[in-house]
Amino acid sequence: MADSFQEHDRRTRAVHAGIRRSQYGEVAEAIFLTQGFTYDSAEQAEARFVQAGDDEFTYARNGNPTVRMFEDRMAAIEGCEAGFATASGMAAVNGALMSILRAGDRVVAARALFGSCLYILEDILGRFGVTVELVDGTDLAQWERAVTPGTRAVFFESISNPTLEVIDLPAVARIAHAVGALVIVDNVFATPVFSRAAGLGADVVVYSTTKHVDGGGRALGGVVLGSRAFIRTTLEPYMKNTGGAMSPFTAWLMLKGLESMDLRVRAQAAGALTIARALTTQPAVGRVLYPGLESDPGHALAMAQCGTGGTVVSFDLGSREAAFRFMNALEIVLISNNLGDAKSIVTHPATTTHQRLSDDKKRGLGITPGLVRLSVGLEAPDDLLADITQALGRV
Ligand SMILES: *Cc1c(COP(=O)(O)O)cnc(C)c1O
Repeated sequence: MADSFQEHDRRTRAVHAGIRRSQYGEVAEAIFLTQGFTYDSAEQAEARFVQAGDDEFTYARNGNPTVRMFEDRMAAIEGCEAGFATASGMAAVNGALMSILRAGDRVVAARALFGSCLYILEDILGRFGVTVELVDGTDLAQWERAVTPGTRAVFFESISNPTLEVIDLPAVARIAHAVGALVIVDNVFATPVFSRAAGLGADVVVYSTTKHVDGGGRALGGVVLGSRAFIRTTLEPYMKNTGGAMSPFTAWLMLKGLESMDLRVRAQAAGALTIARALTTQPAVGRVLYPGLESDPGHALAMAQCGTGGTVVSFDLGSREAAFRFMNALEIVLISNNLGDAKSIVTHPATTTHQRLSDDKKRGLGITPGLVRLSVGLEAPDDLLADITQALGRV
């Protein structure tokens, strides 16, 4: 087991934890771009298939040294015992849920979710006899009512996409743990930089590392973090046998992303706060959704759970036409649908990421026709503000 640097600050862990050096003593993490591993003897092959140690590998679908470095580093950053890296954030969400659920189980989830998370909950799990109840994640009374004895898991985004609702993680965890349910948190918007999810009661923390971990929009990836027992005996057999592993090259990109993640994400969050404040003074802008603003309903919870509002700001321009005019007038901010990227990106959730939902559902989730989601990048905040202001002038 590589040194997990647990006694060091999170920033130090993000640079060093999990490193495995070859006989050459390389400084940068090596990319073990190999599908398989040889054995000294048939007996060794047999032994490794019975039980592979932390530094023993059989096949890259089951594990790979570069991927293991990334898993260990992510676990060390989050303060979890173990991790399993996946081909995408959705492979991580799917694995976390499917590895524990069986027919007859009940899951309670917050309604405000990433579109593909909703698809797993609403369209897939039901086919296998799993009952799913969706609640307003910000209403603890609804969690209390829905999380009945026998509930196997609760699932929510700690800060939701795209409306940035903040869920009271310790309170929901208390409700869930009272009936023995597992708390699975999709923690993308809190980011691994600011997350305290494991300490606040999450049993399983899931990230799409496509976002802030990569930070440069290069590769899809995900990771599931939790106790050693959960990762090794529940999640890993499911992931290994169904083939959702991260590629070694992606793991290497992600490891290098982690080295600069703290600096990047703090700068992006500071930029997001500056922009959110400025947006509240713009006449063309209706609601500004950003938990970093004192006026936001999720502010106190966000400060207690992450100490930040994050790197994404959503705001309402009143109509789809106004939103499109604004987006089309932007000169620096790109129209795309990633987030956490060094490049600032604007998205119109109602027609893209959440297009599949009925108008009723969109309304229920606050995904109004005029809502735009802005992921703040690493450009100079003054340049971004100037770009946003000129584009608002064209609305
Ligand atoms: C992006 C995202 C996902 C999915 O991650 P992919 O890497 O795109 O598969 C899941 N949940 C949240 C909250 C996300 O933002």
